[in-house]
Amino acid sequence: MKTVHEVKRITVSNERINPVEGDVVVCWSKTLWFALHLFGAVVGLVFYASWINTAVFVSFAALTLCLGHSVGLHRLLIHQSFACGRELRWTLVHFGSLVGMGGPFQMMYMHDIRDWAQRHEHCHDFLSHAKPLWHDALWQLFCEIRLQNSPRFTIENEVICDPVMQMMQRTWMWQQLPYAVVFYLIGGWGMMLWGISLRIVVSLMGHWLINFFAHNQGERDWHLAGHAVQGYNLPHLGLLTMGEAWHNNHHAFPGSARFGLKAGQADPGWWALCVMEKLGLVWDLRNAEDLPERAELHPLISN
Ligand SMILES: [Zn+2]
Ligand SMILES: [Zn+2]
Repeated sequence: MKTVHEVKRITVSNERINPVEGDVVVCWSKTLWFALHLFGAVVGLVFYASWINTAVFVSFAALTLCLGHSVGLHRLLIHQSFACGRELRWTLVHFGSLVGMGGPFQMMYMHDIRDWAQRHEHCHDFLSHAKPLWHDALWQLFCEIRLQNSPRFTIENEVICDPVMQMMQRTWMWQQLPYAVVFYLIGGWGMMLWGISLRIVVSLMGHWLINFFAHNQGERDWHLAGHAVQGYNLPHLGLLTMGEAWHNNHHAFPGSARFGLKAGQADPGWWALCVMEKLGLVWDLRNAEDLPERAELHPLISN
């Protein structure tokens, strides 16, 4: 068995700290960013639909969502479920920032605070996606939560002190710019709007939608006792979500680099890692069986 340490960035220093009391407020930077790209996406769809623009949209979305968001930000930076050299780590995190959801430190915070909240018996509806679909859409796409008493969040030194990571956090919006210029030079406004704005809007909406369903309905092989929210597997969406749809598996084994645990659970993020492992680019891939046992984790009958 490989040595596994749990990634712990949240510190609860007193009993007033809780994931229930908090206010949802409009986040203007998030709202303006989304509105700007929504406008670009609509213009692109109405005036510049073409096969070549569709191909650029699909391939750049697949690259940034798979290698960037799922592998780079989620499985590597947030869960440390495999290891690689720092140049590859920077590259994967850069692709993840290109998804347009936030910089690396912000993504770690958003993920970990939600994860911490969901492990309690109760948590705020914003953090559990408990409101109806339309309400959750408004909240997640345009707002943020301010907890009345939030825990301390500390990012490990090797990440927070890395000047390249700091630069990627500061410039996450601007990292689109070189790609926008290249798309414009090759294919004009149409390719730029499809490759940047439409891709960002579809990625943000897709991420929210998957998050909503993956915490509300679907299939489960595992139950986590005492948790406010359970994760659900969303069959048939494994391919499209780069493996992120196996969210019941992920709640059960958060430190596993592999999300699709059973035969037939398509997990493109894991396939990419297997290829990179063969090429010697990544190593120490952690699997569900490498993780320490959790007392609160119970298999359901179907297992
Ligand atoms: Zn979850
Ligand atoms: Zn996670």
